[in-house]
Parts: sequence; structure tokens; C-alpha cells
Amino acid sequence: MTTNKNPFEVARETLRLLAARRIAPTPDHYQTLYNEIAGVKSGEAATPTGNNNGNAFPEKQLRALAAALPKEAPDQLRLARQLEEALRDGNWEDYKKHLTSFVEDLTGIQRLAWGELISDLLRQWGARHTGLTTARKRESLEHVLTSSSANPENLYNRLQALLRSWGQGRELEPVEGNSLDNSDANDTDTSNRDEGNEAPLAGNNPHRLLSELRELFAFTLETAVATQLNEDPRLRDDAHRLANDIRKARAPEELEIFLTRLKRFVFKLELLAEDHAELRASLLGLLRLLVENIDQLVIDDHWLQGQIAVVREIIDKPLSQRAIDDAERRLKEVLFKQSQLKAGLNEAKEAIKNMLAGFVDHLADFAEATSDYHDKISACADKISAANDISQLESVIADVMHETRSIQLNAQKSRDELRLTQQQVRESEQRIRELEQELEETSVLVRHDQLTGVLNRRGLEDMFSKEAARADRHETTLCIGLLDIDNFKKLNDSMGHDAGDKALVHLARVCRESLRPQDSVSRYGGEEFVILLPETLLADAEQTLARLQRDLTKRFFMHDNEKVLITFSAGVAQRRDDDTLATVLKRADEAMYTAKQSGKNRVISAP
Ligand code: GH3
Ligand code: MG
Ligand code: MG
Repeated sequence: MTTNKNPFEVARETLRLLAARRIAPTPDHYQTLYNEIAGVKSGEAATPTGNNNGNAFPEKQLRALAAALPKEAPDQLRLARQLEEALRDGNWEDYKKHLTSFVEDLTGIQRLAWGELISDLLRQWGARHTGLTTARKRESLEHVLTSSSANPENLYNRLQALLRSWGQGRELEPVEGNSLDNSDANDTDTSNRDEGNEAPLAGNNPHRLLSELRELFAFTLETAVATQLNEDPRLRDDAHRLANDIRKARAPEELEIFLTRLKRFVFKLELLAEDHAELRASLLGLLRLLVENIDQLVIDDHWLQGQIAVVREIIDKPLSQRAIDDAERRLKEVLFKQSQLKAGLNEAKEAIKNMLAGFVDHLADFAEATSDYHDKISACADKISAANDISQLESVIADVMHETRSIQLNAQKSRDELRLTQQQVRESEQRIRELEQELEETSVLVRHDQLTGVLNRRGLEDMFSKEAARADRHETTLCIGLLDIDNFKKLNDSMGHDAGDKALVHLARVCRESLRPQDSVSRYGGEEFVILLPETLLADAEQTLARLQRDLTKRFFMHDNEKVLITFSAGVAQRRDDDTLATVLKRADEAMYTAKQSGKNRVISAP
């Protein structure tokens, strides 16, 4: 090992030993002995003058330099170890490399924008952040300062993360930084690390939050994202793989890789979404074109227009599965009803055809009978001209009279039959007109109330079974509200039945516009309406109807330029598993009755 003696002392000692050992004072002897005393192996570079002798390794000086460097921060300790190794191996190249890269790193750190960071810190320190008190800020800051003071780069990064977290009104980032503390892979010094820092920084346990976030993220990838990607199995598998990876990723390098892959995945998703949007737009365009063309073609077939209106209604609004299901069922019903009506229509037309055919046959018979009559009469005329005496005429006249009477009867019969046929044709035509009329109306009226346009009772029954099935499938709640206009009879009596009708239309419109698209309104009877509220709890249903009451007080019904306030009383009930429409309506009706009893214009929930 080296001895750190003063060169003068070594020189004096060398001279003393040369004399004592009676060794000839040649330069070689002097050198050997000097090296021995200085503790330098023979053949190595030390000289009594301390100068680098040619290419020799100036170990002593370099060792002195290494010893003089500070050894506090992990990177300084690392450098000391690296220099030590280079000295041990006598490797000047390594020594130079480690030293240079250390100085370069230092220069890099000096380039960090400390000025900006500090002014940002001052600004954020003074600013108010939700859920952050000054004490909490101080605690987080102290934590960052103590845990990363030894490494300026770490400190810089963590301070930045801390400020970012303050800016977001959260305080998790610096701790997240801690958990990624071993980000400096070369840092072999662990003394400054907060390993096992599980303690909550400021109330919340960031590790628990992080692991919850990680799990939620994986879950979202697997459910919300992957299930939407059934048409693209490769992307769907990517989503599953990413979910698996984020569950496992802990080390910063793993997280880096994950982040890169996630970015790529998101980019692919964006492309796919664009493709889908384009596809949907062109499909809708095609459908619109089709509908417009059919519309032009069926100007005379009014019964088809109701169906087309249903399709147009769907494509003009934002697409929703519920609307499509609804329209599909409406169309099916209309088609069924129309097929029945069309059968009746065909029957009536067939009947007219048969009648006409019968009449034509009859006319032919009549014509035949008439020509027969003519033949007989002309034969009679021949007989008359050939007759020689009156006695011969007697039988001819009897024949003529007989033929004439028979033809008269025949004509009479034909006239009666003609009248009957005329009557039947008229009746058939009437029936055809009626059927055609009905056919037109079915398009619109199968499930809707004619006056208000909301669902009728039949529509309500269908809607209830559909929503009940949906609620069972998704295990959600379904509520029903029954509302009855207050003192409607009085309104009718004072303003007239027509005004009453308009008030009903007004109420139905406010209901439709005030409720969510998935809620449905139906007219249950006279001035009673039923509202179905899917995925709604009883308390929310009650609030919804109360909001509807408020909306009605803001949107007056206008009659003869006068504002008329319409109020209603309502009962709400939540569907139970074994409820039918009738049973749940009964509870809502009882609650509504209670609302009427307790002064009207209020909403009561069924117990
Ligand atoms: P309450 O506050 O207790 O409900 O009193 P009300 O007057 O509203 O109730 P009531 O049942 O006594 O009267 C309902 C009235 O609604 C009677 C009926 O003439 C009227 N009505 C029912 N259907 C229609 C309709 O289609 N148009 C009009 N204009 N009135 C209707
Ligand atoms: Mg009533
Ligand atoms: Mg009423």
C-alpha cells in the first residue's frame, strides 16, 4: 500500500539507507531504494521529483487527487470507488474517463433551470390549492428536500413533480417520485433512499392509492376498452396484455416500456375510432338516401309514410340502441297490423271483381235470351204473314204473348240483379276506403295517443315489459310515476274542452322535454299520465317529478294570451321483482291519492 510521505523525507531516508547499507549511489540504486521507501512497486512510475516519467502512471499524484475529492453524495462516492479501481488497475484511461464524465454530469446539473423552478415554487407556495394547506405543503417539501438533497438531479426532478402535483390540486406526485426513487440505476448508494417508505405523506396512503389506480386502470382496459374491440381481436388482445402488464409493472424501466406501449395503443385506438365514425357516417348517409328515395316513390301510399317517419326520426337524432329497439318494435307492430288490413283490402277488391264478372255473365245470358226472343218473334211474324185465316193467328199471338212476357220477366230480373250488384260494389268500395284509411292511421296510432303524441296505454304496457326486462338484466331499478292534473275539470269548465285538450298537449310536451331521453311518458287516461324512469332510485324519481312540477311553473300554458298555471299531484313507486305494471301502478296510484288528499300539487313516494 502507499505511504503518504513527504518526498523530501523519502529522499533523505533513501540517501541515509544507501550510506547505511553501503550501496553504491548509482541512479538505479537510488531509484530502487526510493521506490521501496515511498511504497511504490518496482517498475512503476514514481520518481523522486514526483514528475510523470515518460508514460509511467503517476499513481501517487492521482491517488492524492482522488483523496482530496469530496465524498458525500452518492455520485461522489461512486466516483471515488471508480477512481480507486482505476488506480488499483493502474488504468489511466479509466481514471480519465470517470473523472471527465463526472465533470460533464456536473455541468449538466448546473444547466438545470433552477431559476425557473424556484420562481415556480415561490408562486405555487403562495397560491391556494384545493385540499392543500401551507402546513401540508411544507411537509411535502421537507420530505422531498431531505430525501433527495444528495443528488441535485433527483432533487430537481422531484421538486418539479411536487409542483406539478400542487398545480393539479393533488399531493401524490412527489411520493410517487419516491417510489420511483431508484430511477438512477447507476446509483449504488442506498443510504439516501426512502426504501420502504410506506408511511402516508399527508393523510392518504399513496401506495394504496397507486395500487388502486393501477388496478382500476387495468380493469378499465379489460372491460371498458377490450369489450369495445370485439371487431378487432388484435387490439383487444393488446388491451388485455397491457392490463396484465400494468398490474405487474413496478420498476421505472418497466413503467417506461409500459408507457411507450400504451401510447402506441392509444394511437391505434384513435385511428380505429376515426374509422368507426367514418363508417357510421357513411351508413347513415346511405340510409338517409334510401329513406328519401322511398319517400318520393310512395307519395300515394300514405300508409308507408308512417314507417318511414319512424326511421327518419331515428337517423335524425343521436343514435341509441334504445331508440333503435323501440323503432324496430313499432315497425313490426305496424307491419303486422297492416298485413291484416291489406288482407281485408284484397278480399274486398276480389269481391268487387267477382261481382262484376257475375254481372257480365248475366248480361251475356240476357243478350242471349234477347236474341232468342227476336228469333221467336220473327218466326211468329213469318207465321202471321203466311196465315190464311184468323184461327191460325190465335196460336201465333199466344206464342208472341208468351215470349214477350218471358223476356219481360227476364229483363226485370236483370234490372234487379244490376241494382243489387251496384249496391254491393258501392259497399265494397266504402269498405276499401275505410280499410285504406285505417291502414294509414296504423302507422302512427298503434302505440301513441292521438291527442298528445305520447305513448298510449298499449305503448305503456310494451314499454314497461321492455324496461322491466332491461332492469332485470342489468340489475338496476325501475321507477314509475303516476301524475294527475289538479282541478282539471274546473279548467275544462271555465275555458272549454278545447283549451283542456291543449293543456294536455302542453303538459305532455313539458314532460318530454324535461325528462331524460330514456324516460318514457304515456297517457294513462283522461288527465292522467304515467312516467317510466329506468335506472332510477325512488328518491331520485320523487325529485324528478318535483323538478317537473317546477318546470311547469316556469313554462306556463298560454290560453287566449293568458298564462294558465297547470299543477299536478303525483305518486311514485319503485318496481319490485314480482311487480306487474298493474301492481306497481296501484302503489303509485295510492301515493298519488295521498298527494291529492294532502293538498294537491305535491309528489309522494309509495312506501
Ligand atoms: P283532481 O284535482 O282531484 O284530479 O280534480 P280533477 O278535476 O282534475 O279530476 P276529475 O277526475 O274530477 O276530472 C277530470 C276531468 O278531466 C273530467 C274530464 O272531463 C276531463 N277530461 C278527461 N279526458 C279529457 C280530454 O281528453 N280532454 C279534456 N279537455 N278533458 C278531459
Ligand atoms: Mg283524474
Ligand atoms: Mg285530476
